Amino acid sequence: MYCIYFTILRQQKNKTYSDTAKEHVPNLVCVQQFCANCEEIEDCSIACDRCGRRRHSFWNDHVGDLLTYLCEPRPWASKIVAIAHKAKAFDLHFNLNRAIKLKWKPELIANGLKMISMKMEHLLFLDSV
Ligand SMILES: [Zn+2]
Repeated sequence: MYCIYFTILRQQKNKTYSDTAKEHVPNLVCVQQFCANCEEIEDCSIACDRCGRRRHSFWNDHVGDLLTYLCEPRPWASKIVAIAHKAKAFDLHFNLNRAIKLKWKPELIANGLKMISMKMEHLLFLDSV
């Protein structure tokens, strides 16, 4: 199964570093997905018989809810590929932080500080570029 996701960010003050420091934090995560059964159906508002509802929004625990959703049991899918446009700049960092807190052991491919991909169990996170 493939998931295209993007994270809407907001800035908030982070006084850990200085009085004026700001950090980007997730405000919303949106997902569109497709599997081999529905990849030809462009209208994502049409649910798939196999993968179900194809659009999802996560408003509360953005990254945690995304990872929880991606980890739901899907016996028909041996791998979940999650692709984000700005993954190497933002999204993968949020996912990596959460993975570390969960004591997961992701495998990373990076180019300097920019992560190109992250693999954890059956989840593969990629940058779209
Ligand atoms: Zn499907």
